[in-house]
Amino acid sequence: MKEQLKALENLARQLETTPEQRTTLNNAIANYADQFISSLSKRNAYDLQEDEGKAISDLKIDTTARSLETILVAYQKNVDSVGINPASGRHFGYIPGGGLFHTAIGDYMAAIGNRYAGMYFPSPGAVRIENEVIRWLCSLIGYQEEKAFGVLLSGGSLANLAAITAARDDKNIRSQEVERSVVYLTQQVHHCVLKALRIAGLGEVIVRQIPMDAYFKMRPDALAEQIERDKSAQLNPFLVVASAGSTDVGVIDPLAAIAEVAQAHELWFHVDAAYGGAFLLAEVQNEDGSTVKEAFKGIEQADSVTIDPHKGFFVSYGLGALLVKDINTLYKTNYYQASYLQDAEHINEANPSDLSPELTKHFRGLRMWLPLQLLGTQPFVAALSEKILLTRYFYEQVQQLGFEVGNYPELSVMIYRYMPEEGDANSYNEKLVQQIWQDGRFFVSTTTIEGVYWLRLAVVSFRTHLKEIEDYLQFLQLLTNQV
Ligand SMILES: *Cc1c(COP(=O)(O)O)cnc(C)c1O
Repeated sequence: MKEQLKALENLARQLETTPEQRTTLNNAIANYADQFISSLSKRNAYDLQEDEGKAISDLKIDTTARSLETILVAYQKNVDSVGINPASGRHFGYIPGGGLFHTAIGDYMAAIGNRYAGMYFPSPGAVRIENEVIRWLCSLIGYQEEKAFGVLLSGGSLANLAAITAARDDKNIRSQEVERSVVYLTQQVHHCVLKALRIAGLGEVIVRQIPMDAYFKMRPDALAEQIERDKSAQLNPFLVVASAGSTDVGVIDPLAAIAEVAQAHELWFHVDAAYGGAFLLAEVQNEDGSTVKEAFKGIEQADSVTIDPHKGFFVSYGLGALLVKDINTLYKTNYYQASYLQDAEHINEANPSDLSPELTKHFRGLRMWLPLQLLGTQPFVAALSEKILLTRYFYEQVQQLGFEVGNYPELSVMIYRYMPEEGDANSYNEKLVQQIWQDGRFFVSTTTIEGVYWLRLAVVSFRTHLKEIEDYLQFLQLLTNQV
């Protein structure tokens, strides 16, 4: 027995590293990261590779070890050089991420110590860090209530799902009531809200798409009328979802007016600010003297708010926050007592695991807390203000090149399309996008609104500055003189 144990131990000990091995691994990864980041200005934002990095699947997981060198060569070729490059400052498609280096360091620290961030008892410090991030976000949106709190999840889709389950339980939507219960949103709502309804067992609710104004914003008067009609028809209105920074065109619904309607009819009011929420930090004046921050007025009245730090706070993918006005609404859905957790009941801070479906989870607060600590908020304020102004600059300049534009950019997303002198504008612009993709230096995505095909510009990467925008304008000029 002892001999067998010794033999196993010898093999099992390979799981631990020696100081030399750690140095080698650390250096190799630090080198790779350095080369990656310093080559970004020369790298494409989009790599259309014919084999789509298929060779990475040739590295089959086997009984024996493989060298990091082999792995990094394959990774560089088949992962980091294929598809969209989210780290590029020339990525203007969807909602770009970025990925702060400081977040990578935070993740590294979190993984090394492997602190248990699901509950306060095993790791009070980790939970305090998570909860500090939540309190900071609550103060950013202007929650005054002492009961305001939240939870850090992996992204906006999960945060919206957690909001919808809380709304469902707070409004007591039991299975018998689902078919006569009503949710209000617009055609511009992010599709993950509809997905979340289905996952939350609310697939059969009545979904009302409220008419929008000319800027694709929900019309509060139309919302109020629809709720009244539904009430007279003995239906059960219970939830309204507004967008603060719609994904498609980047506009903010009139939150204060919607909040008023929601309160008058006792509906749960959820604001999806996954993309837009970070811009509460921006210090930008509009032409009429109002500020960008003022456009969010009413968000502090929402029962729940989603903010994705992996968008506007530039942290790497994997962080979405749900904030609620009353923490008890999250307890109602997620709290559970289990006898094997009885030691963990003594708490000074809310347990993340009582507020979401997760128990054991990534210590994800550190990836946001560390960058904010190391940098302070000032560079974030500057970067977010810069993103808005860059978009507005593009909005002015692209029109000089013969492009038609949509809304004046409230935040940092806008739509535009070239108007050819003859021929179909939709097919012209589809061809234009193909050329942009083929070239690869810039990545853009598109949308179709009421049958019209638009290119989108989303300026969210912390690496996008004036040069990237001017280079793109120059490229568009070249293309439209050719297409
Ligand atoms: C990105 C986005 C989502 C989805 O968030 P994920 O983090 O991708 O899950 C939801 N709503 C809006 C408005 C978004 O921009």
